[in-house]
Amino acid sequence: MTARDGRGQRRRVSESPLSAGWRPATSEPAVLVGIGPDEDDLDELAALADTAGAVVVGRLVQPREAPDPATFIGKGKLRDLHGLVHAAGAGLVVFDDELTPGQLRHLEQELGVKVVDRTALILDIFALHARSREGKLQVELAQLSYLLPRLRGWGEAMSRMGGGIGTRRGPGETKMEVDRQHIRRRIARLRREIVDLSRSRAVTRARREGSRVPQVAIAGYTNAGKSTMMNALTGANALVADQLFATLDPTVRRLRLPGGRNVTLSDTVGFVGKLPHDLVEAFRSTLEQVSRADLILHVADASAPDAEEQVEAVREVLGEIDAARLPEVLALNKADRVPGLERARLERRFPDAAFVSALEGEGLDKLLARVDDALPSPPVEVHLRIPYARQDVTARLHREAEVLRVEEGERGSEVWARVREDQWTWVREFARDAGASG
Ligand code: GDP
Ligand code: MG
Repeated sequence: MTARDGRGQRRRVSESPLSAGWRPATSEPAVLVGIGPDEDDLDELAALADTAGAVVVGRLVQPREAPDPATFIGKGKLRDLHGLVHAAGAGLVVFDDELTPGQLRHLEQELGVKVVDRTALILDIFALHARSREGKLQVELAQLSYLLPRLRGWGEAMSRMGGGIGTRRGPGETKMEVDRQHIRRRIARLRREIVDLSRSRAVTRARREGSRVPQVAIAGYTNAGKSTMMNALTGANALVADQLFATLDPTVRRLRLPGGRNVTLSDTVGFVGKLPHDLVEAFRSTLEQVSRADLILHVADASAPDAEEQVEAVREVLGEIDAARLPEVLALNKADRVPGLERARLERRFPDAAFVSALEGEGLDKLLARVDDALPSPPVEVHLRIPYARQDVTARLHREAEVLRVEEGERGSEVWARVREDQWTWVREFARDAGASG
């Protein structure tokens, strides 16, 4: 099935019954609900909702500590929520915590609109970002694992009602039993496929394309300003001609660097605080496309009280998915909200970072210049003449570079090859002409 994202482009969403169940049309007006001292605590959830295509029309915060077992927020607050939802014309309510199956069903009944919890929202975002086969399988596995107890919860709620109407084993429950069986079998198959895939993954990753457009991946926490950054960097030079390109994948856009090079910029799945444990694997495999980029543009919210920890947490996970070897440019975003003293402290802590405000456009030129500097140069096509006495060089080219053509001449081998900048040092003396057809 397809849905429209915030920019009105069609995109595929997961076929899973879970997201198909609640994902409505574009720009669904949504009310956010959480437990906490103030509304700012819902900023991350707001960014998550935005990523999933909802428009936040209201927020409600309940200052209680322990969630109410039936309604999560308590009866009185539920009345307030009902009023807010209907006054704002919301069709969706998003809770910042995971709801029990019973709470979910109860709240939907009381509110008369779709209710989604934080986990379902995150899963939907993963489905939107999963690119690789493994990523898609992992996300579906997590979605079905989430769905299964919720089906069961419905059945339990039925049997708890005691005797009488509604407790008979009717066609509804039989169908549910079938659904459950079906889901369990699918889960088992997904697990097997994932194991098979991870065995063959090492092979596919080694195969890299030669002269493709360099890829810059934006990574960072949700709410750090990744999408705002993407828009700020590409908005000004987004061409109509790029539209076809854009529809292929709405999270990828083309960007021209100050030096004239074209790169693709991709908005990757955001890190989230309080990531439910069951979603860790799905998150990793969805993020894995980052490890195939040529450079990571790491966007951090410099105004967050735990900005440093967030930067470290992102770097740690990038290390775990084999992306730490890639060049990284750190953008300390929301500079407009950081007081001078704190800014000076962060500058000492991260001397190579660029302070920017994606919202106000501050520091973006400097940031792009850093990206340009840090991005490895693409391989260049060269024509070499290697004397027969130096067949060691030819052998090394075959091993380390990409050899396109070899002709045996009178004075040596004529070799056309694609070499990287760092290989230039040991091939330079044999060059006939560089970049002739590259
Ligand atoms: P993402 O989740 O990382 O994609 O974050 P978004 O781009 O959706 O931004 C999250 C929130 O931060 C939005 O309300 C943005 O308007 C806000 N934001 C982004 N960049 C800046 C900035 O430079 N300064 C300020 N003050 N707010 C920003
Ligand atoms: Mg975003």
